[in-house]
Amino acid sequence: MTSQITTYDADVLVIGGGPAGSLAGMTLARRGVSTVLLDKKVFPRDKPCGGGIRHGVRRRFPELMRHLEQRVPIHEISKVMMEAPSGASVLATLEEPLYLTFRRIDFDAALLCCAQDAGARVIEGARIVAIERDDTGVTVGCADGRRLTARALVGADGVNSIVARAAGLTHGFTNAELAIDTMEETPLEELGVADPDAIYVAYGYKGWPGYGYVFPKRCCVDAGVGFLLPFFKETLGDAPYEHHARFLQEMSAKGVVRGSSNPDN
Ligand SMILES: Cc1cc2nc3c(=O)[nH]c(=O)nc-3n(C[C@H](O)[C@H](O)[C@H](O)COP(=O)(O)OP(=O)(O)OC[C@H]3O[C@@H](n4cnc5c(N)ncnc54)[C@H](O)[C@@H]3O)c2cc1C
Repeated sequence: MTSQITTYDADVLVIGGGPAGSLAGMTLARRGVSTVLLDKKVFPRDKPCGGGIRHGVRRRFPELMRHLEQRVPIHEISKVMMEAPSGASVLATLEEPLYLTFRRIDFDAALLCCAQDAGARVIEGARIVAIERDDTGVTVGCADGRRLTARALVGADGVNSIVARAAGLTHGFTNAELAIDTMEETPLEELGVADPDAIYVAYGYKGWPGYGYVFPKRCCVDAGVGFLLPFFKETLGDAPYEHHARFLQEMSAKGVVRGSSNPDN
């Protein structure tokens, strides 16, 4: 049973400081809504991700992108090499940049600063483990025992969202819905790319239910493979890193990258 909330720590609590949470926190704070944003991690924190977004965000969010580009090394991509399961490939080349790539560790930290600069109070290292709500508002409980109250809650806590579970929006995932993925971000001096303007994506890599990708960034290359979990467990075997290293060997043989995988990255 919850007690009626009489004092509030904020109008809105935002759970999660990834792109969704930081944008929500920034937007609310700019409109004068008192906002507390909580994340279980301490930033800068990494996030498994290719770190590629459509170039159109520069048009959609011009002011935000100007701000971010002063803080985050952002790289322009104007070519996309797509490989079919058969191994046949096609290269799409545009005059204008098509994608922007960056490291999530940098991008997310800079976005969180934007929320903070707009007036949101950010609390890091706060893992939410309990959510209670009644008609007076919402109370969240952190793993370390802290409790915060607000009139409303925004769930931006990613794919395993505790907020979505508390709201009955998801009950988790079955094995058939999950994938296993590897990635490394290795400096360009160690793992070079043949064409820094081109990203490479193999859809249905080798005809398997999965993918492989190579995304050049400003100072590093981000590469990885991913497979549907049931296929990986039942058919592929081997440790995930074995497939990752083999993918990069193949990319090297095809001339997409120069060098080999570094398991420490
Ligand atoms: C392998 C891979 C490659 C991808 N590549 C791309 C790509 O190239 N381009 C692209 O656009 N998208 C890509 N994505 C998808 C992209 O990463 C997500 O869509 C994006 O990160 C979602 O942002 P978000 O803010 O909703 O959640 P997240 O970025 O996941 O942020 C959620 C935040 O909530 C916090 N959190 C979680 N639980 C709690 C809790 N209980 N208490 C407090 N805090 C909590 C986490 O620490 C995290 O900081 C990729 C995803 C994967 C897995």
